[in-house]
Amino acid sequence: MISFVGAGPGDADLITVKGRRLIEEADIVIYAGSLVSHSHLDYCKTECCKYDSSVMTLEEIIDVMKKGDDEGKRIVRLHTGDPSIYGAIKEQMDRLDELNIKYEVIPGVSSFTASCAAIKSEFTLPGVSQTVIVTRLAGKTPVPERESLEALASHHSSMSIFLSAGNIDGVVDKLKEGYGRADVPVAVVYKATWEDQKIIMGTLEDISDKVKMVGIRNFAQILVGDFIDCNYQRSRLYDPSFSTGYREASK
Ligand code: SAH
Repeated sequence: MISFVGAGPGDADLITVKGRRLIEEADIVIYAGSLVSHSHLDYCKTECCKYDSSVMTLEEIIDVMKKGDDEGKRIVRLHTGDPSIYGAIKEQMDRLDELNIKYEVIPGVSSFTASCAAIKSEFTLPGVSQTVIVTRLAGKTPVPERESLEALASHHSSMSIFLSAGNIDGVVDKLKEGYGRADVPVAVVYKATWEDQKIIMGTLEDISDKVKMVGIRNFAQILVGDFIDCNYQRSRLYDPSFSTGYREASK
């Protein structure tokens, strides 16, 4: 049995209880060493075999899984944040299907929600945006043309941009084009929840200079939208003049 586990964004306490238990019980842990906090490995049994997937190919990862599974070992594949977002788990699961090996996926706290928590904001504000767009600039992995940052930005939804801080100028140019204005608030969160977390606040006008001055190129979230700094309508859910399924409106 292979358990794909979301390790969370950094702080080792931000893993699920289930994920932590699986790490404690694992005979083999394959972890994404470039982004997963090594503190998670402190919870492994002493005899647990640990593999850093950042120096492995897909084929090598599957070999370790297959051999371990044949021997009846409990295997954890530890991914940063939530495995479903830029996790490259589908290609692993498809190979496990071909090999008839059972697996499960345990979700995690993604870095985009952890970053929103770091700036103490809410992506979905009434009257501002009720949509969160999770995206990235093309890098080694291409992005379909219909999902260009300009096109996505034209919706004025709240946005979380992964894997793109190294080209902050490119991000800003495309966002300006899509928004048609430059006073849009932006927060760049570097290593959210790690001890050396950094938060840079700005707008499309000045964020690029600020980010370059601090020298942030990777390991960062770019959060964009008026949700960061705006007026909004209060929610109906907690409004005394509205009834809900659980509460009568006050007269
Ligand atoms: N599955 C992960 C994302 C993996 S892709 C998740 O759910 O968060 C790797 C990218 O995620 C990084 O380039 C960066 O953009 C973002 N990222 C991961 N951890 C981060 C953190 N602690 N703070 C800010 N961004 C982070």
